[in-house]
Amino acid sequence: MPHAPEVRRRRTFAIISHPDAGKTTLTEKLLLFSGAIHIAGSVKARKASRHATSDWMEIEKQRGISVASSVMQMLYRDCVINLLDTPGHKDFSEDTYRVLTAVDAALMVIDAANGVEPQTRRLIEVCRQRDTPILTFVNKMDREGRDPLELLDEIEQELGMPCVPMTWPVGQGKAFGGIVDLRKQQMRLFKAGADKRSDQDGADADEIVPLAQADTLRARFGQDFETAEGSIELLAGAAPAYAQDAFEAAKQTPVFFGSGVNNFGVQEVLDALVDLAPPPAARHVTQADGRDVEVPPAAEGFSGVVFKVQANMDPSHRDRIAFVRVNSGRYASGMKLRVQRSGKELRPTSVVTFLSQRREAVEEAYAGDIIGFTTHGGVQLGDTITHGEAPASFGTYTGLPFFAPELFQTVELANPMKSKQLMQGLLQLGEEGAIQVFRPTVGGAMLLGAIGQLQFEVVQHRLKAEYGVEARLGACRFHGARWVTCDDAAAMRKFTDEAASKLALDAADTLAYLMTSPYDLRLTQERHPKVVFHPLREHA
Ligand code: GDP
Repeated sequence: MPHAPEVRRRRTFAIISHPDAGKTTLTEKLLLFSGAIHIAGSVKARKASRHATSDWMEIEKQRGISVASSVMQMLYRDCVINLLDTPGHKDFSEDTYRVLTAVDAALMVIDAANGVEPQTRRLIEVCRQRDTPILTFVNKMDREGRDPLELLDEIEQELGMPCVPMTWPVGQGKAFGGIVDLRKQQMRLFKAGADKRSDQDGADADEIVPLAQADTLRARFGQDFETAEGSIELLAGAAPAYAQDAFEAAKQTPVFFGSGVNNFGVQEVLDALVDLAPPPAARHVTQADGRDVEVPPAAEGFSGVVFKVQANMDPSHRDRIAFVRVNSGRYASGMKLRVQRSGKELRPTSVVTFLSQRREAVEEAYAGDIIGFTTHGGVQLGDTITHGEAPASFGTYTGLPFFAPELFQTVELANPMKSKQLMQGLLQLGEEGAIQVFRPTVGGAMLLGAIGQLQFEVVQHRLKAEYGVEARLGACRFHGARWVTCDDAAAMRKFTDEAASKLALDAADTLAYLMTSPYDLRLTQERHPKVVFHPLREHA
């Protein structure tokens, strides 16, 4: 395989957490450690408005900067590490889920005082569905928090997999003494301070004491050290040993403790990403004849998947940025790209990579890397992108999920003359995944489907700002959707006849059943046992 050495040195991961657990801070410290940024605070800056989420202008501000910083690439030791941020607000969780399809591992940040929180729980579910390996970082050890053994227990319950501590805390809160590195058998002594950083030659900003000098540590940290020793001994008997294959199969999670804001315990995490996190693996494509084929990441030909489409931060330009996760081969600057679905060639005006938070023209990219290119349409979420003359035989990558909306509103025009602009706006916003658009099969107003209420606000605002369309949104009787399929043509016809008033086509012309309540769905399922109702549509 021609590109094997480059693939081997790639690590692509998402950082996930409940808001306020310390994701932004940790991201910044990881970048700082790897030398990707030198000014602490530059990741933070974009976050300032994150909590004022119902104000569209705030979102827009945030969006402007997040284009550059939602994907970050850094070089550490011999590795190229791609870090993907996941949006924090729950209304955008669908976007988050898609980001998780583009990574090979996830780093979960947990607040030591709060344990596993609701938002984290949902993200964990998605990781588990895909068997994404998870590394765990327990943050804020410098604050009074929960007992570490108890936390481990909770994480195990929530993740449904055993925890394997890689570091262990000595004391906590005001008495936080540091962490014991169980692999290296040494203790890193806690020193507060945000900007201390070790250089890559190994000179460390913190004091390190080998466990062989346990007497010194006992004298210094007294009871706290003895308690830690006791816990470590207990865990040695009770916790499983770290096993690389179990971690990669999402059957155990290595756990680290530290304090992001103090840049403490971060190096251990970064080293674990290099030493433990897996490089890109083979991905599946479905070929035209339905065959499922594995594409090795180091294969010759370039291919990738669009997992995110984002509007240009400048609304006066209609172009958008498509984010592509490279799945195989090598992208080199100037290369022609093709959309599998339409067979159309793309002529991106610029292709960028995301090194050190600046958008830079990309020279080359390999499996695991994320490239972004500008598009004026014709590219959809989930699209497979290839290079080459006769890619039809290649097939399409499977697996980008669309979730059934739970909220619906009708959309109508204030000015009927603008229906063309409305259609164009809805089409493009639908392609971006900002909203899902449904056309009832027997006529009537178009329907917008969302996972979070905020999406409606955003779409209404953007229709006006970017397409000059004043859209009226209205209440609607539907509260859920299921995509429908059926192997039996007669049964399908009976169903479509009976349910006609509740059927609609989505942006990909896939048939969906709109339901008024869970009870409605249950009843319909009972009446039509041969019809399958899917809560998730995978882009095909
Ligand atoms: P995010 O919402 O998960 O991105 O969280 P942030 O990184 O913005 O952190 C939320 C708050 O927790 C901020 O005020 C941080 O300064 C603070 N914080 C982050 N890490 C630590 C830590 O290790 N110790 C303490 N005491 N505070 C922290």
